[in-house]
Parts: sequence; structure tokens; C-alpha cells
Amino acid sequence: MSNFALRALRGLGVFSLTRVLSASMPRILMYHDFCGPNEADDDAINVEDLRRQFAYLRRNFRVVSLRQLADELRSGASLQKHTVALTIDDGRRNCYEFLFPLLKEFELPATFFVVSAFIQGEDWIWTDKVLWLSRQANGPEAIMPDSLPAVFGALNRMRPENRKAWIENTAQSMGVSVPKTPPPRFAPCSWEELREMADSGLIEIGSHTVTHPILSSISDEESWAELINSRAQISAGIGRPVNCFCFPNGKANDYRSSQVKQIQEAGYLCAVIAEFGLVQASTDPYLLPRIGMTRKRTQEQISKYLEGFAYYQERFQSGRGEA
Ligand SMILES: [Zn+2]
Repeated sequence: MSNFALRALRGLGVFSLTRVLSASMPRILMYHDFCGPNEADDDAINVEDLRRQFAYLRRNFRVVSLRQLADELRSGASLQKHTVALTIDDGRRNCYEFLFPLLKEFELPATFFVVSAFIQGEDWIWTDKVLWLSRQANGPEAIMPDSLPAVFGALNRMRPENRKAWIENTAQSMGVSVPKTPPPRFAPCSWEELREMADSGLIEIGSHTVTHPILSSISDEESWAELINSRAQISAGIGRPVNCFCFPNGKANDYRSSQVKQIQEAGYLCAVIAEFGLVQASTDPYLLPRIGMTRKRTQEQISKYLEGFAYYQERFQSGRGEA
């Protein structure tokens, strides 16, 4: 839907209506990457845009930590109105550099999900390697930006060792080698930076596994190790308990129900997925839906999702589809 159409709907008061209707359904926002004021990057939010988003959140919503939201959900009491929780995935350093100062300025709590082997400097995240390859000059058609959704679709279903081989072979066919350590755009936070963020009292550090595998592509034994080991490594690295988990990729076919159970058994208190939705009293605290923010750049697009319009639009469309 165009920004013009969204502006017209907003002008007619449609967003005000959906905001009231969905008031008691908390929203969990999903962020990944940020960049400086004079930079432009399709996959990263510019700090000036982020500043405008945070001012809008402060004016219109009650922003709480994901833990608090999960506790309120679990308590069975009616959910408080206009609640929002912020989450950031993966653990890249641009979050420390660009997001953290703004969280402090606006006094907004957030949960930062990190991949422990990435923070330890053992490897960089495989999805970033694919993005890096797609940004190289003279790359094969197969990994040009337009083909990336299909490439990720296929890679998500591969066993980790096959995916690793695919990345290496593709790099070789392009005449490049994937650097051992990530370039600055894909670099991780250090433990020290994560500790500083956690010590601010605004940021809780959660687990996003050890190696970012798609859980449905590995065995239950392997996913158990990912859950337990990441929790232990992050907890040791920041000197605090780790309570929240984030599924890699997080779409419906990226995990099995046995693995959702494992998250609870491993001692986590809640988990987030990447499917779109708003939180309701009946929502499973281990399958909390989110609103992806990376591609939502205009205020109209942001309002469409944050004011509840997109939620009712989707419900209406799927209802019509079934009829
Ligand atoms: Zn991730």
C-alpha cells in the first residue's frame, strides 16, 4: 500500500480506530542493524530515522522490557494498554555504536539477542557472509540482492556443514575468499561493550544461539547444545543470568515443537519469533510474534504496523482467503 493511501487512511481516522481496538495487544519490535547519520544502507536504520521513531514511541506508547512484558503475560492479568517492547538481533557492533546512545537518551529498555560464538570472535554470522558475497563486485546472478530471498530460503533448509560448503564454493567461484574476521559493517560487540550495555540497566542480553543455525535444520540434540552452551557463554561473558531466547530466522518452519519445549527446559523465561503479530492473552510466551522494523522507513509505514492497522488488514485478508 502506498504512503499516499496510508496517509489518506490515517487522515480518515482509520489508524486511530485500529489503535483503540488493538490497545491491549502489546507490540514487540524487531531490529537488526543501524548506521550513522550520513550513511545509507538498505539493511540498516539510520540514527536520525531511529531518533524520530523513538520520539514517536515515547509520545504514544508504554515501552517496557521484553522480560516485563513476558511476566505480565504470564501473570494472567489483563494486558496493559499501548505496550511496546524493543528487541535487537545478532549482536553486531553498530548497535553499541548507534543504538545504545539513543536508548540512553530516550531512557528506553531493550533486549539484545546475541550469537555467542560471534561475540567470542570464533566466526562471523553465516547470513552476513552471504550478504557480504552479494555486495561484492561481479558476483554471480544467483546471489545478487534481488535473488537473496530465494537464496536464503534454500540455505535455511540446509544442514550447517552443507551451507558452509555452499558459501565457500560460491566465494571460490567468484574469485574471492571470505575474510576470517568480519569486515566492520558485520563486526560483533565485545563482551566489555555488552557488559556496559547490561550495566546501564536499560538493556538485557538474551541468547540467539551459539552459531545461528536454523533449528529445524539440526537435530534436537544439537539444538539442546546450542541453547545450553550459548546461555552459559553469554552469562559468563556479561556476569548476569540469561533469560530470553530468540529463534534464528524465526519463521514458522524454522523450528520444531520439540525445540520450543527445549527452550523452556533449558531455563529460558520467554522466546521471540520473527512471524508478524501482536501479543494477546493467549500467546505462548515461548513463541512471541514481532514486528520487523528494518524496512519500515516512513512514518506512514511505521504507524500502519504500530497503530494496529496492519494486524486487522492481515486478519481481514486471511479471513477472506478462507471464505
Ligand atoms: Zn539472527
